[in-house]
Amino acid sequence: MATYTLPELPYDYAALEPHISGKIMELHHDKHHNTYVTGANTALEKLEAAREAGDLGTINQFQRDLQFNLGGHINHSIFWKTLSPEGGGEPEGELAEAIKDSFRSFDNFVKQFTAVATGIQGSGWSVLAYETISGKLVTFQLYDQANHIPAGVYPLLMLDMWEHAFYLDYLNVKADYVKAFWNIVNWQYVAERLETAKQVTLVK
Ligand code: MN
Repeated sequence: MATYTLPELPYDYAALEPHISGKIMELHHDKHHNTYVTGANTALEKLEAAREAGDLGTINQFQRDLQFNLGGHINHSIFWKTLSPEGGGEPEGELAEAIKDSFRSFDNFVKQFTAVATGIQGSGWSVLAYETISGKLVTFQLYDQANHIPAGVYPLLMLDMWEHAFYLDYLNVKADYVKAFWNIVNWQYVAERLETAKQVTLVK
């Protein structure tokens, strides 16, 4: 039995239209995400086979394969749930307070996250995360599926900026894709992730 499995989308493929088309969601979930799941399971098998054979020469390559594919699996699993046909608007409660405390205002946060997203050079993600030492919220650019992740962070909101995520709908106009994203953010789920993040202790 496979270690990693493809989760179901929590809504129909076309549920996020007109912001993200059903065609993109179907390809993105069934093909792209599934490929990361398969790749992560394959990497685990190859690591075990390399250990069994005592072949350390292949260990680093398979670790990188696992890191990349598991990154893809985790990032997409979070991404689907941070989107909702009933999303949009602004966060409330503790999440709203945390955003205000860390970015001065919700509008400033939207501007910063948008700049992070549209400024990615190549393939990657724009991320809002909880920094577990300071308790502050931070944004960062995650490259490919697992590169340049700062130490000590727990992701709260992630936007896929790979071309496969938007090109069929928006061609090269990244700014319109990011603008549409704000209409479908599931702030309730992001708030639940913040609650969980606050329980994480990396350094005591
Ligand atoms: Mn993707």
